[in-house]
Amino acid sequence: MSDLLHLFHLAVQNIHEDEHGYLVEASNRTPPETCGKCRSPDIRKFGSRQQLYNDTPIHGKQVTIQVNRQRYQCKLCKKVFHEPIHDLSSDRLVTQRLHDYVEKGSLKRTFTDVAAETGLDEKTIRNIFRDYVQRLATEVKFDTPRWMGVDEIHIIKKPRAVITNIEKNTVVELLPNRNKKSILAYFAGIKDPHTIRYVATDMWRPYREAVYEQFPHAKVVVDKFHVVKMANEAMEAVRKAVRKELTDRQRRTLMHDRFVLLKRLHDLTDQEYLKFSGWVRNYPLLGAAHALKEGFYAIWDSTSRKEAEADYARWKDDIPEELVPYFSDLVRATDNWHKEIFNYFDHPITNAYTESLNNLIRVMNRIGRGYSFDALRAKILFTEGVHRVKRKRKSTSARRQEATASLDGMGDSFMINRGFYNLATRPPEEEEMINYGAAISTLVELLENDEL
Ligand SMILES: [Zn+2]
Repeated sequence: MSDLLHLFHLAVQNIHEDEHGYLVEASNRTPPETCGKCRSPDIRKFGSRQQLYNDTPIHGKQVTIQVNRQRYQCKLCKKVFHEPIHDLSSDRLVTQRLHDYVEKGSLKRTFTDVAAETGLDEKTIRNIFRDYVQRLATEVKFDTPRWMGVDEIHIIKKPRAVITNIEKNTVVELLPNRNKKSILAYFAGIKDPHTIRYVATDMWRPYREAVYEQFPHAKVVVDKFHVVKMANEAMEAVRKAVRKELTDRQRRTLMHDRFVLLKRLHDLTDQEYLKFSGWVRNYPLLGAAHALKEGFYAIWDSTSRKEAEADYARWKDDIPEELVPYFSDLVRATDNWHKEIFNYFDHPITNAYTESLNNLIRVMNRIGRGYSFDALRAKILFTEGVHRVKRKRKSTSARRQEATASLDGMGDSFMINRGFYNLATRPPEEEEMINYGAAISTLVELLENDEL
């Protein structure tokens, strides 16, 4: 009989083929010689049971293996056990290689797809995937960021929290929602939380509260982008209000007004500037709102916290009466988040990756159809080749050094290690891998090429 299966432990006895697939009768090549529990060689056969196992498809056809699974009883300890067959999964009625195939496949394709190809039902795929991700999560540990980003991304119809390493431009976690409870649960599981020095967030209260509760030593810095964005939103509200009062003919004179008004003044082309000055003459409210927006942006040109806070106070005092309603959201947010917003001037960290993150969200939502949140999360976090890693050789003495150094919040342990290199007294070394998380740029690239 041809060895269709190429499995070490299973001998093919018979092959039945029809248009749907193969049914392969097989038997164990390597029956047990001892008791699985007490290792006694004194075992006897104790009935058998026919079992059907799914295997990876062959020639595009589904494969089922029929095994007469022998049972044994140990005469010494009385334990009854099935003969172990190492090619078969111990948890499910699938071969080990199909199990591996489904694991890999469930990260790459939709569960429906993998189910259709393998002949397993979707629930089985989902369960294998769930166990796989749990295993990956214990195996793949991401380094705790020193500068952590906590942001919101909107995928599969809901806002989710995304946790990033700002220095390394990586994603380290995606949470199913952005509730305080979820954030706290995630924070509580972080090893060496003292590594975290700064947390850059948007102005979502639960983020701030969770950080202060779990990492009281860390400084929260509101991402500058999220603050100045509100000045643009105020400008946009004024623009809409002005337009509403105009006749169709007047409105036509305001071509591309949104684009021009939201742009920074110093970025306008000569032609845009010409248009802009015309509008400002005709609609002074637009001009005043624009000046206010620009003034707000200018606060971020300050070189110190003190200067920025003074600039802001002045800016707030000078808001023209008629613009107060439009800028009130911005003022309220800036006042509610005063400390965290102006922390930026002491620690100018910002989510420089915001743009690539937005790309990522856009592509993810395009390919995301048919995936559950958990599946997308696992793709992002655990796909092979997406991680930003650093190999590092380290010695026990360097490890000790590193432990002390990281307590002091000192620099790179690799450098410390190098400093300790000494051929005469070189201690035994081992290589260690630091995993910083999924590189955002690689993710975008893979997604765009349909390779994730
Ligand atoms: Zn035994």
